[in-house]
Amino acid sequence: MKKMLNNRYEILDKIGDGGMAFVYKARCTILNRVVAIKVLRPEFSDDEEFLLKFKNEALASAGLAHPNIVNIYDVGQDEDINYIVMEYVDGMNLKDLIKKKGALDYSYALDIMKQIAMALNQAHKNGIVHRDIKPHNILISKDNLAKVADFGIAKATTSSTITVVGNVIGSVHYFSPEQARGGYIDKTSDLYSLGIVLYEMLAGKVPFKGDTPVNIALKHINEDIDFEKDIPTDIPKDIKGLLYKLTQKKQSDRYQNAYELINDIEHIENNIELDFEEDYELYHTQKLDSLNEELKASISKEIKEEGANTNMRKKSKNKISSKKKMTILGVLFALILSFSITFIAYNLKDLFITKNYEMPDFENNTLEDATSRLESIGVSVQVRNELYDSAVEKNHIIDQIPAAGSSIRKGQTVKFDVSKGGEPVTVPNLVRKTLDSAENILKESDLKEGVIDYEFSSLPEGTIISQKPRAFTEVEEGTGIDFIVSKGEEVKLVRVPDLVGKTLEDARILLVDLGIGKIKYEENKNKKEGVILNQSLKGGQHVEEGKKIDLIVNEYKEEKVEEPSKKIIEKQISFALSEEEQTVRVVVKEGNGAKAIYDKTINVQESGNMITVPIQGYEGETKEYEIYVDNAFYAKTTAEFK
Ligand code: ATP
Ligand code: MG
Repeated sequence: MKKMLNNRYEILDKIGDGGMAFVYKARCTILNRVVAIKVLRPEFSDDEEFLLKFKNEALASAGLAHPNIVNIYDVGQDEDINYIVMEYVDGMNLKDLIKKKGALDYSYALDIMKQIAMALNQAHKNGIVHRDIKPHNILISKDNLAKVADFGIAKATTSSTITVVGNVIGSVHYFSPEQARGGYIDKTSDLYSLGIVLYEMLAGKVPFKGDTPVNIALKHINEDIDFEKDIPTDIPKDIKGLLYKLTQKKQSDRYQNAYELINDIEHIENNIELDFEEDYELYHTQKLDSLNEELKASISKEIKEEGANTNMRKKSKNKISSKKKMTILGVLFALILSFSITFIAYNLKDLFITKNYEMPDFENNTLEDATSRLESIGVSVQVRNELYDSAVEKNHIIDQIPAAGSSIRKGQTVKFDVSKGGEPVTVPNLVRKTLDSAENILKESDLKEGVIDYEFSSLPEGTIISQKPRAFTEVEEGTGIDFIVSKGEEVKLVRVPDLVGKTLEDARILLVDLGIGKIKYEENKNKKEGVILNQSLKGGQHVEEGKKIDLIVNEYKEEKVEEPSKKIIEKQISFALSEEEQTVRVVVKEGNGAKAIYDKTINVQESGNMITVPIQGYEGETKEYEIYVDNAFYAKTTAEFK
């Protein structure tokens, strides 16, 4: 097989192998999507008429846009390779599914039936009969969507390929009697085949088997389906009724269109009883009369056709088998009779034995819990919808049919809408935002605050350092986002030493990690002088490193003699310096030379040689002043304060 078709489709893997074609998984390089490509087997490529049919039929079904129909994208030819490009369904075909799992759960089977019926309804409305409804042509995606493939293509194959290609034997198991006879085919023929598909889903095997396609086809014409043999007994009788009506030999006895079938499936799903019983009896009597004629007619017709078309070996074999069939006709009647009797008996038994229960309220319970409770009383559970609902936890029940308090019975199916949790939303980035602003952002994104932890950080206090889940990930609506928030720089706590009674010097040594604040002096004659009387931070507690502590230190006040208030008088003394020097230091001392009241270096040139010095004394006092120039005694004077 070529790696590339028309420079556009890159062949990836072979995924299927049918009667007239191979199916490949491929990539469309223009639209960059995965597609399935059905390539006609080379032996058909030369047959012009066949090719034309193949293409025309593919194009006819290309107009059928429906979620349960495999979409056709393109029809093409690359050299002698003829192909159809279609939607790729990731999953498996129903035949393989049944092979793998055996008989399917009836509510699951009913769900698939409904989806196929919807596809058929769409096709029939558009005047297209499928003609090859069989499990191989029903693809089940990974999320249980059923999609019907090969619409209309079958028309090009059935009549001409039945004896040519071995694989088509598969199809004959699902042929309607009219198809087997080569009679007039209409939409009810698809519904018959669908009935056989339902039988296979419920029983795990097809109703008629045989050595040759002709044998099997004859059985579809002549033999009744045995519902008692392979269909599990716990299948609700309405589903059996549905199967029965689908597989009627006479086209007019079947559902007349897919819509009627959908309607009945929905009734069963909603536990509304169908009125099949009467129909059964009608069918039985009718069939007992007409079957004889029909059988005889069909068999003789079959023999004629075989004689005209095929070799002698087959012909003689069929003659023998048809004779045999005539002789077992009586047995067949007996079988049908006994079947109808057991069937009615079965239904009667069902009517009397079935116990009724009250449907509990399962809202907000887990699906698992509800299923195990219901299955324990023989009631099946089906999930009708999986919905996003942030108010109901994932896998918990949102809604139920029937409502709580309704009567339910064994064999019935109840349906639930189950929550998928909240809708997915993208987590916003909140790192480096403040906790306050995060609250609003979360609200807008339909998320909420999760667990908040605080850590020291160089980021300002209240700033988000990190978040979980991370930004731009997808989470369920209503999910809590956890944060780590900064509580500012780390502070070290230190213990405050007890300083009362210690000296200021000791305090300086003890206060290694703390500072000394204001020092106040107070007098307490009962304590030693110089000791600390009080401290602003109590000893023993822990405070931030580097904090300042105020202290009160004991200081004895000097006993000062109250001096009588005397009047202070201000005066000045003046003297002239010799002009010889440029710069001189002038010092004036008061009293007996102890205290300098004036000490200045003077530039005589600039400020002149006259010096005036302010002095003061109490009224009535007399003071002596000595003047030194450049440290040498210069003059002496006395001032009287009056
Ligand atoms: P027949 O030739 O009678 O139709 P068939 O249906 O088995 O028999 P194909 O239609 O050629 O043969 O398909 C072969 C297989 O390829 C299918 O059974 C299915 O498993 C797979 N297949 C077909 N179409 C697709 C598709 N669109 N997506 C995925 N798989 C597919
Ligand atoms: Mg197919």
